[in-house]
Amino acid sequence: MTSTTDLNQDLLTRAQRVIPGGVNSPVRAFNAVGGVPRFVERAQGAYFWDKNGQRFTDYIGSWGPMILGHGHPEVVATVHAAVDEGFSYGAPTEREVALAEKILAMLPSMDMVRLVSSGTEAGMSALRLARGFTGRNKIIKFNGCYHGHADALLVKAGSGLATFGSSSSAGVPADVVKDTIVLEYNDVAQLEEAFARMGNEIACVIMEPIAGNMNFVRASVDFTRRIRELTQQHGALMIYDEVMTGFRVALGSAQSLYAQKIEGFKPDITVLGKVIGGGMPLAAFGGRRDIMEKLSPTGGVYQAGTLSGNPIATACGLKTLELIGAPGFHAELHLKTGQLMQGLKSEADAAGIPFSVDWQGGLFGFFFLPELPTHYPQVMTTDQARFNRFYHGMLERGEYFAPALYEAGFMSAAHSQDDIDRTLEAARAVFKTL
Ligand code: PLP
Repeated sequence: MTSTTDLNQDLLTRAQRVIPGGVNSPVRAFNAVGGVPRFVERAQGAYFWDKNGQRFTDYIGSWGPMILGHGHPEVVATVHAAVDEGFSYGAPTEREVALAEKILAMLPSMDMVRLVSSGTEAGMSALRLARGFTGRNKIIKFNGCYHGHADALLVKAGSGLATFGSSSSAGVPADVVKDTIVLEYNDVAQLEEAFARMGNEIACVIMEPIAGNMNFVRASVDFTRRIRELTQQHGALMIYDEVMTGFRVALGSAQSLYAQKIEGFKPDITVLGKVIGGGMPLAAFGGRRDIMEKLSPTGGVYQAGTLSGNPIATACGLKTLELIGAPGFHAELHLKTGQLMQGLKSEADAAGIPFSVDWQGGLFGFFFLPELPTHYPQVMTTDQARFNRFYHGMLERGEYFAPALYEAGFMSAAHSQDDIDRTLEAARAVFKTL
Protein backbone atom coordinates (compact mmCIF):
# COMPACT_ATOMS: atom_id res chain seq x y z
CA MET A 1 0.00 0.00 0.00
CA THR A 2 2.71 2.45 1.00
CA SER A 3 4.57 2.04 -2.27
CA THR A 4 1.30 2.46 -4.24
CA THR A 5 0.64 5.74 -2.52
CA ASP A 6 4.21 6.85 -3.09
CA LEU A 7 4.20 6.17 -6.84
CA ASN A 8 0.88 7.95 -7.30
CA GLN A 9 2.18 10.80 -5.15
CA ASP A 10 5.36 11.01 -7.23
CA LEU A 11 3.37 11.25 -10.41
CA LEU A 12 0.99 13.79 -8.87
CA THR A 13 3.94 15.98 -7.87
CA ARG A 14 5.33 15.73 -11.41
CA ALA A 15 1.89 16.39 -12.93
CA GLN A 16 1.25 19.43 -10.75
CA ARG A 17 4.31 21.13 -12.25
CA VAL A 18 2.89 20.98 -15.75
CA ILE A 19 -0.89 20.62 -15.49
CA PRO A 20 -3.03 22.83 -13.22
CA GLY A 21 -3.78 20.71 -10.15
CA GLY A 22 -2.08 17.81 -11.92
CA VAL A 23 -5.31 16.79 -13.67
CA ASN A 24 -7.23 17.56 -16.85
CA SER A 25 -10.65 17.61 -15.21
CA PRO A 26 -11.06 18.87 -11.63
CA VAL A 27 -12.91 15.96 -9.96
CA ARG A 28 -9.93 13.69 -10.72
CA ALA A 29 -7.83 15.66 -8.22
CA PHE A 30 -9.68 14.16 -5.20
CA ASN A 31 -10.20 17.64 -3.72
CA ALA A 32 -13.59 16.66 -2.29
CA VAL A 33 -12.32 13.59 -0.45
CA GLY A 34 -8.67 14.49 0.09
CA GLY A 35 -5.76 12.15 -0.52
CA VAL A 36 -3.83 11.22 -3.62
CA PRO A 37 -5.57 10.40 -6.91
CA ARG A 38 -4.75 7.04 -8.47
CA PHE A 39 -2.97 7.35 -11.82
CA VAL A 40 -4.31 4.67 -14.12
CA GLU A 41 -1.89 2.42 -15.95
CA ARG A 42 -4.38 0.21 -17.80
CA ALA A 43 -7.91 -1.15 -17.54
CA GLN A 44 -9.69 -4.34 -18.50
CA GLY A 45 -13.26 -5.47 -17.90
CA ALA A 46 -14.48 -4.23 -14.50
CA TYR A 47 -11.01 -3.25 -13.28
CA PHE A 48 -8.23 -0.77 -13.66
CA TRP A 49 -4.68 -0.93 -12.33
CA ASP A 50 -2.86 2.09 -10.99
CA LYS A 51 0.81 3.02 -11.50
CA ASN A 52 1.90 0.61 -8.85
CA GLY A 53 -0.12 -2.32 -10.07
CA GLN A 54 -2.90 -2.17 -7.47
CA ARG A 55 -6.17 -3.39 -8.95
CA PHE A 56 -9.44 -1.51 -8.39
CA THR A 57 -12.99 -2.55 -9.12
CA ASP A 58 -14.08 0.40 -11.21
CA TYR A 59 -17.51 1.84 -10.40
CA ILE A 60 -16.90 4.97 -12.44
CA GLY A 61 -16.14 3.60 -15.91
CA SER A 62 -14.77 6.92 -17.19
CA TRP A 63 -17.83 8.64 -15.65
CA GLY A 64 -20.26 6.71 -17.78
CA PRO A 65 -19.00 5.73 -21.23
CA MET A 66 -17.64 2.27 -20.34
CA ILE A 67 -21.00 0.52 -20.01
CA LEU A 68 -19.54 -2.67 -21.53
CA GLY A 69 -16.54 -2.56 -19.22
CA HIS A 70 -13.01 -1.78 -20.37
CA GLY A 71 -11.53 -3.31 -23.50
CA HIS A 72 -14.52 -5.28 -24.74
CA PRO A 73 -12.91 -7.51 -27.42
CA GLU A 74 -15.43 -6.69 -30.15
CA VAL A 75 -15.13 -2.96 -29.53
CA VAL A 76 -11.35 -3.17 -29.48
CA ALA A 77 -11.31 -5.08 -32.80
CA THR A 78 -13.66 -2.53 -34.37
CA VAL A 79 -11.50 0.37 -33.24
CA HIS A 80 -8.32 -1.31 -34.48
CA ALA A 81 -9.89 -1.78 -37.89
CA ALA A 82 -11.04 1.85 -37.97
CA VAL A 83 -7.56 3.09 -37.06
CA ASP A 84 -6.15 1.35 -40.11
CA GLU A 85 -8.52 3.35 -42.32
CA GLY A 86 -7.39 6.75 -41.13
CA PHE A 87 -7.85 8.96 -38.08
CA SER A 88 -9.84 11.91 -39.33
CA TYR A 89 -10.88 13.28 -42.71
CA GLY A 90 -12.90 16.44 -42.19
CA ALA A 91 -15.29 15.13 -44.83
CA PRO A 92 -18.48 13.10 -44.33
CA THR A 93 -18.44 9.32 -43.90
CA GLU A 94 -21.02 6.55 -44.08
CA ARG A 95 -20.31 5.67 -40.46
CA GLU A 96 -21.67 9.03 -39.30
CA VAL A 97 -24.89 8.36 -41.17
CA ALA A 98 -25.13 4.87 -39.70
CA LEU A 99 -24.59 6.17 -36.17
CA ALA A 100 -27.18 8.91 -36.65
CA GLU A 101 -29.66 6.31 -37.95
CA LYS A 102 -28.95 4.03 -35.00
CA ILE A 103 -29.45 6.79 -32.43
CA LEU A 104 -32.69 7.94 -34.05
CA ALA A 105 -34.02 4.38 -34.18
CA MET A 106 -33.62 4.15 -30.39
CA LEU A 107 -34.95 7.61 -29.51
CA PRO A 108 -38.29 8.34 -31.17
CA SER A 109 -38.26 11.96 -29.94
CA MET A 110 -35.40 12.70 -32.35
CA ASP A 111 -35.89 13.20 -36.10
CA MET A 112 -32.36 14.45 -36.74
CA VAL A 113 -29.10 14.51 -34.84
CA ARG A 114 -25.78 16.34 -35.05
CA LEU A 115 -22.59 14.68 -33.82
CA VAL A 116 -20.00 16.61 -31.80
CA SER A 117 -17.04 15.70 -29.58
CA SER A 118 -18.08 16.41 -25.96
CA GLY A 119 -21.16 16.76 -23.82
CA THR A 120 -20.20 20.36 -23.13
CA GLU A 121 -20.19 21.12 -26.84
CA ALA A 122 -23.51 19.34 -27.32
CA GLY A 123 -25.18 21.23 -24.45
CA MET A 124 -23.78 24.57 -25.56
CA SER A 125 -24.97 23.98 -29.13
CA ALA A 126 -28.42 22.79 -28.01
CA LEU A 127 -28.80 25.98 -26.04
CA ARG A 128 -27.82 28.18 -28.98
CA LEU A 129 -30.23 26.23 -31.17
CA ALA A 130 -33.09 26.70 -28.69
CA ARG A 131 -32.41 30.42 -28.56
CA GLY A 132 -32.09 30.65 -32.34
CA PHE A 133 -35.28 28.69 -32.91
CA THR A 134 -37.43 30.61 -30.43
CA GLY A 135 -35.80 34.02 -30.87
CA ARG A 136 -35.75 34.31 -27.06
CA ASN A 137 -32.86 34.66 -24.61
CA LYS A 138 -33.92 33.46 -21.18
CA ILE A 139 -33.27 29.89 -20.12
CA ILE A 140 -34.19 27.86 -17.06
CA LYS A 141 -31.82 25.37 -15.49
CA PHE A 142 -31.97 23.59 -12.15
CA ASN A 143 -29.75 23.89 -9.13
CA GLY A 144 -27.36 20.92 -8.96
CA CYS A 145 -27.76 19.87 -12.60
CA TYR A 146 -24.59 20.01 -14.69
CA HIS A 147 -24.71 20.45 -18.43
CA GLY A 148 -21.04 20.93 -19.22
CA HIS A 149 -19.06 24.11 -18.84
CA ALA A 150 -20.54 26.46 -21.43
CA ASP A 151 -20.57 29.95 -19.88
CA ALA A 152 -24.34 30.40 -19.80
CA LEU A 153 -24.81 27.06 -18.03
CA LEU A 154 -22.14 27.50 -15.36
CA VAL A 155 -24.56 29.13 -13.03
CA LYS A 156 -25.41 28.48 -9.43
CA ALA A 157 -28.52 29.48 -7.59
CA GLY A 158 -28.74 33.11 -6.55
CA SER A 159 -29.53 34.16 -3.00
CA GLY A 160 -33.23 33.71 -3.60
CA LEU A 161 -34.15 30.95 -5.97
CA ALA A 162 -36.30 31.70 -8.97
CA THR A 163 -34.04 34.68 -9.45
CA PHE A 164 -31.23 35.02 -11.90
CA GLY A 165 -28.20 33.09 -10.79
CA SER A 166 -24.59 34.15 -10.59
CA SER A 167 -21.81 32.31 -12.32
CA SER A 168 -20.16 29.49 -10.44
CA SER A 169 -16.88 30.22 -12.25
CA ALA A 170 -14.56 33.18 -12.43
CA GLY A 171 -14.16 34.49 -15.94
CA VAL A 172 -17.82 34.42 -16.88
CA PRO A 173 -19.15 37.95 -17.39
CA ALA A 174 -22.35 38.74 -15.47
CA ASP A 175 -23.91 39.74 -18.79
CA VAL A 176 -23.49 36.21 -20.12
CA VAL A 177 -25.49 34.64 -17.29
CA LYS A 178 -28.05 37.40 -16.88
CA ASP A 179 -30.59 35.35 -18.84
CA THR A 180 -30.03 32.11 -16.94
CA ILE A 181 -32.72 31.45 -14.34
CA VAL A 182 -31.86 28.83 -11.73
CA LEU A 183 -34.70 26.97 -10.02
CA GLU A 184 -34.77 24.17 -7.48
CA TYR A 185 -35.06 20.67 -8.96
CA ASN A 186 -38.43 18.99 -8.39
CA ASP A 187 -40.05 22.27 -7.27
CA VAL A 188 -43.24 22.65 -9.31
CA ALA A 189 -44.33 25.86 -7.56
CA GLN A 190 -41.12 27.71 -8.50
CA LEU A 191 -41.43 26.50 -12.07
CA GLU A 192 -45.01 27.72 -12.34
CA GLU A 193 -44.09 31.04 -10.85
CA ALA A 194 -41.21 31.54 -13.29
CA PHE A 195 -43.47 30.78 -16.29
CA ALA A 196 -46.22 33.01 -14.93
CA ARG A 197 -43.75 35.88 -14.62
CA MET A 198 -41.81 35.56 -17.86
CA GLY A 199 -43.13 32.60 -19.85
CA ASN A 200 -43.09 34.42 -23.18
CA GLU A 201 -39.39 35.28 -22.78
CA ILE A 202 -38.16 31.75 -22.03
CA ALA A 203 -36.33 29.95 -24.83
CA CYS A 204 -35.93 26.64 -23.06
CA VAL A 205 -35.83 24.59 -19.91
CA ILE A 206 -32.79 22.31 -19.70
CA MET A 207 -32.74 19.43 -17.24
CA GLU A 208 -31.14 16.13 -16.36
CA PRO A 209 -34.03 13.61 -16.21
CA ILE A 210 -32.20 11.80 -13.45
CA ALA A 211 -29.68 14.21 -11.99
CA GLY A 212 -26.38 12.33 -11.89
CA ASN A 213 -24.46 15.42 -10.92
CA MET A 214 -26.07 15.58 -7.50
CA ASN A 215 -25.36 11.89 -6.99
CA PHE A 216 -28.64 10.34 -8.13
CA VAL A 217 -31.86 12.34 -7.88
CA ARG A 218 -34.86 11.50 -10.04
CA ALA A 219 -37.09 14.18 -11.47
CA SER A 220 -40.56 13.37 -10.20
CA VAL A 221 -43.15 12.45 -12.82
CA ASP A 222 -45.23 15.49 -11.80
CA PHE A 223 -42.29 17.84 -12.17
CA THR A 224 -41.40 16.42 -15.59
CA ARG A 225 -45.01 16.60 -16.74
CA ARG A 226 -45.32 20.25 -15.64
CA ILE A 227 -42.12 21.19 -17.46
CA ARG A 228 -43.50 19.60 -20.62
CA GLU A 229 -46.87 21.30 -20.26
CA LEU A 230 -45.53 24.75 -19.41
CA THR A 231 -42.89 24.77 -22.15
CA GLN A 232 -45.54 23.75 -24.68
CA GLN A 233 -48.04 26.34 -23.46
CA HIS A 234 -45.47 29.14 -23.60
CA GLY A 235 -43.66 28.25 -26.83
CA ALA A 236 -40.44 27.28 -25.05
CA LEU A 237 -38.38 24.16 -25.78
CA MET A 238 -37.66 21.34 -23.37
CA ILE A 239 -34.05 20.16 -23.53
CA TYR A 240 -33.37 16.78 -21.99
CA ASP A 241 -29.72 16.39 -21.06
CA GLU A 242 -29.18 12.64 -21.31
CA VAL A 243 -25.39 12.83 -21.53
CA MET A 244 -25.20 10.62 -18.44
CA THR A 245 -28.52 8.76 -18.58
CA GLY A 246 -28.58 8.18 -22.35
CA PHE A 247 -28.47 4.45 -23.21
CA ARG A 248 -27.35 3.77 -19.63
CA VAL A 249 -30.55 3.79 -17.58
CA ALA A 250 -32.52 2.02 -20.34
CA LEU A 251 -32.00 1.28 -24.03
CA GLY A 252 -34.49 4.05 -24.81
CA SER A 253 -32.73 6.30 -22.26
CA ALA A 254 -34.53 8.12 -19.43
CA GLN A 255 -37.10 9.55 -21.82
CA SER A 256 -38.44 6.07 -22.49
CA LEU A 257 -39.03 5.58 -18.75
CA TYR A 258 -40.91 8.88 -18.39
CA ALA A 259 -42.88 8.18 -21.57
CA GLN A 260 -44.27 5.12 -19.79
CA LYS A 261 -45.74 7.44 -17.16
CA ILE A 262 -46.59 10.57 -19.14
CA GLU A 263 -48.81 10.05 -22.17
CA GLY A 264 -47.00 11.03 -25.38
CA PHE A 265 -43.99 12.42 -23.53
CA LYS A 266 -41.14 13.66 -25.75
CA PRO A 267 -38.51 16.34 -25.14
CA ASP A 268 -37.91 18.76 -28.03
CA ILE A 269 -34.12 18.42 -27.96
CA THR A 270 -32.01 15.65 -26.40
CA VAL A 271 -28.35 15.99 -25.53
CA LEU A 272 -26.22 12.83 -25.57
CA GLY A 273 -22.63 11.86 -24.80
CA LYS A 274 -20.65 9.27 -22.84
CA VAL A 275 -22.15 5.84 -23.84
CA ILE A 276 -22.67 6.87 -27.48
CA GLY A 277 -18.89 7.13 -27.88
CA GLY A 278 -18.07 4.00 -25.88
CA GLY A 279 -15.05 5.84 -24.40
CA MET A 280 -14.09 7.90 -27.45
CA PRO A 281 -14.73 11.66 -27.67
CA LEU A 282 -18.23 11.66 -29.13
CA ALA A 283 -21.45 13.42 -28.16
CA ALA A 284 -24.57 14.56 -29.95
CA PHE A 285 -27.69 16.67 -29.81
CA GLY A 286 -30.85 16.13 -31.74
CA GLY A 287 -34.58 16.56 -31.79
CA ARG A 288 -37.53 17.67 -33.86
CA ARG A 289 -36.84 18.15 -37.56
CA ASP A 290 -38.17 21.74 -37.69
CA ILE A 291 -35.80 22.67 -34.86
CA MET A 292 -32.76 20.80 -36.16
CA GLU A 293 -33.12 22.29 -39.64
CA LYS A 294 -32.35 25.67 -38.11
CA LEU A 295 -28.73 24.49 -37.77
CA SER A 296 -26.14 25.51 -40.32
CA PRO A 297 -25.82 24.77 -43.20
CA THR A 298 -29.64 24.46 -43.60
CA GLY A 299 -30.42 27.20 -41.06
CA GLY A 300 -28.95 30.24 -39.43
CA VAL A 301 -27.74 28.78 -36.12
CA TYR A 302 -23.99 28.22 -36.51
CA GLN A 303 -22.34 25.06 -35.25
CA ALA A 304 -19.26 23.17 -36.47
CA GLY A 305 -16.29 20.98 -35.47
CA THR A 306 -12.99 19.79 -37.00
CA LEU A 307 -13.27 16.39 -35.31
CA SER A 308 -17.08 16.11 -35.26
CA GLY A 309 -18.21 12.63 -36.35
CA ASN A 310 -14.62 11.38 -36.08
CA PRO A 311 -14.30 8.02 -37.87
CA ILE A 312 -12.69 6.17 -34.97
CA ALA A 313 -15.11 7.58 -32.40
CA THR A 314 -18.11 6.72 -34.57
CA ALA A 315 -16.82 3.17 -35.10
CA CYS A 316 -16.45 2.74 -31.34
CA GLY A 317 -19.87 4.27 -30.66
CA LEU A 318 -21.64 2.19 -33.30
CA LYS A 319 -20.21 -1.07 -31.97
CA THR A 320 -21.03 -0.08 -28.38
CA LEU A 321 -24.64 0.75 -29.25
CA GLU A 322 -24.96 -2.48 -31.20
CA LEU A 323 -23.76 -4.54 -28.23
CA ILE A 324 -25.95 -2.81 -25.63
CA GLY A 325 -28.93 -3.44 -27.90
CA ALA A 326 -28.74 -7.17 -27.10
CA PRO A 327 -32.03 -8.44 -25.62
CA GLY A 328 -32.13 -8.09 -21.85
CA PHE A 329 -28.90 -6.09 -21.61
CA HIS A 330 -30.34 -3.25 -19.51
CA ALA A 331 -32.62 -5.52 -17.46
CA GLU A 332 -29.59 -7.52 -16.40
CA LEU A 333 -27.58 -4.41 -15.66
CA HIS A 334 -30.46 -3.03 -13.58
CA LEU A 335 -30.63 -6.25 -11.53
CA LYS A 336 -26.90 -6.23 -10.91
CA THR A 337 -26.85 -2.57 -9.92
CA GLY A 338 -29.81 -3.24 -7.61
CA GLN A 339 -27.95 -6.08 -5.99
CA LEU A 340 -25.02 -3.79 -5.21
CA MET A 341 -27.25 -1.00 -3.92
CA GLN A 342 -29.51 -3.23 -1.82
CA GLY A 343 -26.42 -4.98 -0.50
CA LEU A 344 -24.82 -1.69 0.54
CA LYS A 345 -28.08 -0.65 2.19
CA SER A 346 -28.25 -3.92 4.19
CA GLU A 347 -24.65 -3.54 5.34
CA ALA A 348 -25.27 0.07 6.39
CA ASP A 349 -28.47 -0.96 8.23
CA ALA A 350 -26.58 -3.72 10.02
CA ALA A 351 -24.01 -1.15 11.16
CA GLY A 352 -26.79 1.25 12.25
CA ILE A 353 -25.81 3.92 9.73
CA PRO A 354 -28.52 6.07 8.08
CA PHE A 355 -28.25 5.29 4.38
CA SER A 356 -30.42 5.47 1.28
CA VAL A 357 -29.94 4.14 -2.25
CA ASP A 358 -31.47 4.43 -5.71
CA TRP A 359 -30.53 3.07 -9.12
CA GLN A 360 -31.72 2.65 -12.68
CA GLY A 361 -30.05 0.42 -15.28
CA GLY A 362 -26.32 0.94 -14.85
CA LEU A 363 -26.53 4.22 -12.91
CA PHE A 364 -26.68 4.39 -9.12
CA GLY A 365 -26.48 6.66 -6.11
CA PHE A 366 -26.10 6.18 -2.37
CA PHE A 367 -26.45 8.75 0.37
CA PHE A 368 -25.48 8.89 4.01
CA LEU A 369 -29.00 10.18 4.65
CA PRO A 370 -32.02 8.35 6.06
CA GLU A 371 -34.23 9.33 3.08
CA LEU A 372 -33.46 9.92 -0.58
CA PRO A 373 -33.06 13.63 -1.29
CA THR A 374 -35.15 15.35 -3.96
CA HIS A 375 -33.01 18.41 -4.62
CA TYR A 376 -29.50 19.78 -4.25
CA PRO A 377 -29.69 21.47 -0.82
CA GLN A 378 -30.87 18.15 0.62
CA VAL A 379 -28.04 16.26 -1.12
CA MET A 380 -25.59 18.63 0.50
CA THR A 381 -26.86 17.86 4.01
CA THR A 382 -24.96 14.56 3.70
CA ASP A 383 -22.34 13.98 6.38
CA GLN A 384 -19.26 14.80 4.29
CA ALA A 385 -16.74 13.48 6.84
CA ARG A 386 -18.52 10.13 7.03
CA PHE A 387 -18.73 9.87 3.25
CA ASN A 388 -15.00 10.58 3.02
CA ARG A 389 -14.16 7.89 5.59
CA PHE A 390 -16.30 5.44 3.64
CA TYR A 391 -14.69 6.49 0.39
CA HIS A 392 -11.12 6.00 1.61
CA GLY A 393 -11.96 2.75 3.42
CA MET A 394 -13.29 1.33 0.16
CA LEU A 395 -10.42 2.74 -1.89
CA GLU A 396 -7.85 1.08 0.36
CA ARG A 397 -9.65 -2.20 -0.25
CA GLY A 398 -9.50 -1.74 -4.03
CA GLU A 399 -13.08 -0.49 -4.55
CA TYR A 400 -13.17 2.63 -6.71
CA PHE A 401 -16.26 4.82 -6.30
CA ALA A 402 -16.71 8.46 -7.33
CA PRO A 403 -14.47 10.69 -5.20
CA ALA A 404 -17.23 13.16 -4.23
CA LEU A 405 -20.56 12.70 -2.47
CA TYR A 406 -22.47 14.55 -5.21
CA GLU A 407 -21.38 12.22 -8.01
CA ALA A 408 -23.22 9.15 -9.32
CA GLY A 409 -21.87 5.61 -9.67
CA PHE A 410 -21.68 3.43 -12.77
CA MET A 411 -22.08 -0.32 -13.20
CA SER A 412 -20.88 -2.12 -16.32
CA ALA A 413 -21.77 -5.37 -18.03
CA ALA A 414 -18.29 -6.64 -17.11
CA HIS A 415 -18.91 -6.58 -13.34
CA SER A 416 -19.43 -10.13 -12.09
CA GLN A 417 -21.22 -11.59 -9.12
CA ASP A 418 -17.82 -12.10 -7.50
CA ASP A 419 -17.00 -8.43 -7.96
CA ILE A 420 -20.22 -7.37 -6.28
CA ASP A 421 -19.74 -9.86 -3.44
CA ARG A 422 -16.21 -8.59 -2.86
CA THR A 423 -17.38 -4.97 -2.85
CA LEU A 424 -20.10 -5.79 -0.30
CA GLU A 425 -17.62 -7.63 1.90
CA ALA A 426 -15.36 -4.59 1.84
CA ALA A 427 -18.34 -2.36 2.65
CA ARG A 428 -19.25 -4.54 5.64
CA ALA A 429 -15.80 -3.97 7.09
CA VAL A 430 -15.78 -0.25 6.30
CA PHE A 431 -19.27 0.53 7.65
CA LYS A 432 -18.14 -0.89 11.01
CA THR A 433 -15.45 1.76 11.22
CA LEU A 434 -17.70 4.74 10.44
N1 PLP B 1 -24.27 16.88 -19.18
C1 PLP B 1 -24.26 15.98 -18.21
C2 PLP B 1 -25.54 15.51 -17.60
C3 PLP B 1 -23.04 15.47 -17.74
O1 PLP B 1 -23.03 14.57 -16.75
C4 PLP B 1 -21.84 15.93 -18.33
C5 PLP B 1 -20.52 15.44 -17.87
O2 PLP B 1 -20.39 14.75 -16.90
C6 PLP B 1 -21.91 16.87 -19.35
C7 PLP B 1 -23.14 17.32 -19.76
C8 PLP B 1 -20.67 17.37 -20.01
O3 PLP B 1 -20.10 16.39 -20.80
P1 PLP B 1 -18.54 16.41 -21.15
O4 PLP B 1 -17.80 16.15 -19.88
O5 PLP B 1 -18.38 15.34 -22.19
O6 PLP B 1 -18.24 17.77 -21.70
